[in-house]
Amino acid sequence: MIFEAMTVGSFLSNCYIVGAETTKEAAIIDPGADFVRIENEIKELGLTPKIIILTHAHGDHIGAVKDFVEKYGTKVYIHKEDAEMLKDGNKNFSKILTGKSMSIIPDVELEDKDEIKLGDLNFEIIHTPGHTRGGICIKVENIMMTGDTLFNKSIGRTDFPGGSFEEIIQSIKEKIFKYDDDTVIYPGHNSPSTIKSEKLGNPFVK
Ligand SMILES: [Zn+2]
Ligand SMILES: [Zn+2]
Repeated sequence: MIFEAMTVGSFLSNCYIVGAETTKEAAIIDPGADFVRIENEIKELGLTPKIIILTHAHGDHIGAVKDFVEKYGTKVYIHKEDAEMLKDGNKNFSKILTGKSMSIIPDVELEDKDEIKLGDLNFEIIHTPGHTRGGICIKVENIMMTGDTLFNKSIGRTDFPGGSFEEIIQSIKEKIFKYDDDTVIYPGHNSPSTIKSEKLGNPFVK
């Protein structure tokens, strides 16, 4: 697996590039802004941007989606319960956050436990509502990208439409913490962690 993390845009969102060694195809997780930087990184890694998987529809995670779709025909995946938000520039906050309203029609609407194959890679979709209704975590090999659900020693905000504190705690405890302790967590903002370290030190889920 080829893996690269980058922080993009003024909200310091994490964008992850996951590439298949066999086919040199890339999945981009949350291309939030800075299309040219992400594109250059993908080129340097010798990859083709095949699919985009969004952890949720908020404006700080979707800013470069359209550029990839228009230039490369990259296919967009999002959980079905965030699909409406993705299509609506007011609901996804792109207008407020970036000044530019974005309306994106997804190619694939995901459900819990879906699997996406890309070359020799298998992406497992874990529905983790609480930050948004259709928030997901994406697990591939020993890493999990957790979007704005679980951060290093913190959790995502639950005061946006569709958010729920009870649900985010339940998602983390029941759907994320059941994976191996040594699974590495790559969140939507800030630095990585591990499931073990979050079980021991995250003050919100003790
Ligand atoms: Zn968010
Ligand atoms: Zn965010």
